[in-house]
Amino acid sequence: MGFGSSSLMWFRKGIRIHDNPALEYASQSCSHLYPLFIIDPHYMKPDPNAFSPGSSRAGLNRINFLLQSLNDLDINIKKIGSRLLIVKGDPYEVLIRCLKQWNIGKLCFEYDTDPYYQALDIKIKDYALKTGIEVFSPVSHTLFNPTDIIQKNGGKPPLSYQSFVKLAGEPPSPLSTRYSSLPPVGHLGNCDISEVPTIKDLGYGDAKLEEFSPFKGGESEALKRLEECMKDKNWVANFEKPKGNPSAFLKPATTILSPYLKFGCLSSRYFYQRIQDVYKILPKHTSPPVSLLGQLLWRDFFYTAAFGTPNFDRMKGNRICKQIPWKDDDKLLEAWRDAKTGFPWIDAIMVQLRQWGWMHHLARHSVACFLTRGDLFVHWEKGRDVFDRLLIDSDWAINNGNWMWLSCSSFFYQYNRIYSPTTFGKKYDPNGDYIRHFLPVLKDMPKAYIYEPWTAPPSIQAKANCIIGKDYPMPVVSHDSASKECKRKMGEAYALNKTLNGLVSEDDLKNLR
Ligand code: FAD
Repeated sequence: MGFGSSSLMWFRKGIRIHDNPALEYASQSCSHLYPLFIIDPHYMKPDPNAFSPGSSRAGLNRINFLLQSLNDLDINIKKIGSRLLIVKGDPYEVLIRCLKQWNIGKLCFEYDTDPYYQALDIKIKDYALKTGIEVFSPVSHTLFNPTDIIQKNGGKPPLSYQSFVKLAGEPPSPLSTRYSSLPPVGHLGNCDISEVPTIKDLGYGDAKLEEFSPFKGGESEALKRLEECMKDKNWVANFEKPKGNPSAFLKPATTILSPYLKFGCLSSRYFYQRIQDVYKILPKHTSPPVSLLGQLLWRDFFYTAAFGTPNFDRMKGNRICKQIPWKDDDKLLEAWRDAKTGFPWIDAIMVQLRQWGWMHHLARHSVACFLTRGDLFVHWEKGRDVFDRLLIDSDWAINNGNWMWLSCSSFFYQYNRIYSPTTFGKKYDPNGDYIRHFLPVLKDMPKAYIYEPWTAPPSIQAKANCIIGKDYPMPVVSHDSASKECKRKMGEAYALNKTLNGLVSEDDLKNLR
């Protein structure tokens, strides 16, 4: 055991061939290469009690995106003489079984900073060490190695973007390996290998495919989308995130590469290099934090903060998170989640989330602010969970980081600056086309009332075939009074946090004396 000449390439994220250091190393000096993906019930087991179709952790859109990505990988590695091996089951048990059955000498997988994989990888590396299997687990999901940045910062993650950028420097270049062939897959033993399953094979029944996200998973699609974006060099060079239109849905204002980065269908280092190539041609370009390159740095910023902060995904026990007495109100949460707040701008965004699994960054800002410190004062963790399930780009570090940001729990503290659920969207889309598209019940509401339909006289509501309170809900709160109340509570909570912090350090001082 452990001295075989075969390699196992374990795909988790990093579902790609380009710039994949683990795959490159796995394919060197081996007699056989086993490319494996494990269908993990932790993420994939259907949950009939969840609020939308899918598993307990992921909505069907994201599961479908993953299956498409796996299919694409399978097709692409078949072209170079290999195939993707799919096994269902607990990842630790499956992996150990495969290592034994295939007499693996070298195990390669991308390093993953998510707590779930951190815990799993300790067990796996421990097993490999005991049995003499070589492990190669490089950092290639992010531009930088979060451990290096934390070390450079004296053991703590930088908590401001500017300090992160100062420390980061330039990321490693992507690999340029091109494979004409991969080593053959060896004897499969009895490891219960299957082809890439369909949604139906996974037990999700006959899901309605037409409701699925318009974005197709996979490395081929990711590279195509990247090419399309990079073709318009002026757009790349002049990209300024805050100037993007969150209501643009026919031609969205940003790249929509996030789901491909999430699953690693696209390498962030390759993306970075392609932007730099454009900047070389057009040296007058925008800069971080607002530039396109700056967006990739935001991604690494949150990865580093998340990796270096215990309990990053919760308020309690999280040293960088303000302690705020959020309301526990399931009715308000459900109204928000199910696009029934009565504020068309908010509800249209939540419908886009459900149908597409993606919305523009400022649209995410609007609904996250509304749920938490803007209007409903519901806990950011509850909103995070809804995003976590429904986004196709759902990412542990980025999602938690941004929810803390938007709820003024960490990173950003100007709680008096609230997105209006009635006027913010109007600036970009005065006619309300975005609302009409995602909330067809309001499609005939005149422009003057589309953002506040409850103010339309009854005759206008009747003419638009949309009676407010019957066909579309009345607002769940009055924005003016709710936002004032939220600011008051945030002020109190901030004052208390200050006192608590003060007391803690005083006590610490006393103990030292
Ligand atoms: P582009 O503007 O084209 O940016 C390119 C890439 O940069 C993105 O694909 C993404 O990887 C990265 N990026 C851009 N903005 C950010 C940001 N603010 N923070 C970190 N990385 C960024 N993004 C996720 O990928 N997964 C999430 O789970 C997620 N949850 C969010 C939750 C909230 C409450 C908010 C406000 C934002 C969240 N974001 C999340 C960040 C951001 O909205 C998306 O990354 C972005 O909208 C994706 O679209 P794009 O690929 O077209 O972005």
